[in-house]
Amino acid sequence: MSAMKILFVTDNVSPIIYSEKIKERFGECDLVISCGDLPFNYYDFIVSTLNKPLYYIRGNHFTHNDEKQQKIFDPDGGKNIHKKIVRFNNISFCGFEGCLKYNNSDRIQYSEFDMNLTIQTMKPRFWWNRIRYGTFIDLIISHAPPKGFGTPNELCHKGFSSLRRLVEKYQPRYLVHGHIHIYDRNKSRISMLGKTKIINAYDHYVLDTEGK
Ligand SMILES: [Zn+2]
Repeated sequence: MSAMKILFVTDNVSPIIYSEKIKERFGECDLVISCGDLPFNYYDFIVSTLNKPLYYIRGNHFTHNDEKQQKIFDPDGGKNIHKKIVRFNNISFCGFEGCLKYNNSDRIQYSEFDMNLTIQTMKPRFWWNRIRYGTFIDLIISHAPPKGFGTPNELCHKGFSSLRRLVEKYQPRYLVHGHIHIYDRNKSRISMLGKTKIINAYDHYVLDTEGK
C-alpha cells in the first residue's frame, strides 16, 4: 500500500474546508472521499479548488433533489463507489451507502438482509483483488458504521452487523464511516476492530496511510 493522504468529508459542510484557505490546508491530499450526506455543490467546490479526484457514497438523507444534482456532478466531478471496488495508487477501496432501515421513507436505507446480499455479491471481486494484489480490500468506506461503533439503542444509528462481519473476516487496514455525529471534539474518532482501524470521519478527517 503506497503512502498517501486522503481527505475524508462527511455529514457536515465544514467551515474549515468551505474556505478560501482550502488549498493551503488540504492541497497535499492526493484524493478526496465522501462518506455521504453532503450537498453536491460542496463536492463541486472541493473538486474545483483542490483539483483532486473525488469519490463518494450517498448517505441516508439523499433526496430527489440531490438525484438531479448528482446527474450534473457525476460526469466529470466525481464517482459514486457504492458496491464498487476501486484501485488508486496501489490501494483498494470499496463503498457502502445508506444506513440500517429505520422507517418506510424512500431515503437510502437497507435491511441487514439487503446489506448482507450486497456484500455477498461482491465476494468474487474481493477474491479477485486478493489474488491480484494480495489483500481482499485495504479500505472500506461506509456511510453507517459497523455494529458496535454507532449508537447501540437507535435503529438508525446502531450500524450493520454484516459490515462488521466483513471487517472481521477481511481485516482491511481501515474502515472509514460517517453518519454518527461527533459533538465533543475531544472524543476519539478512532477505535480498533481486530487489526482494522475504524474511523469516524464526521465533518472531515485526513488519513495518512503511512500512519503518522
Ligand atoms: Zn446518515
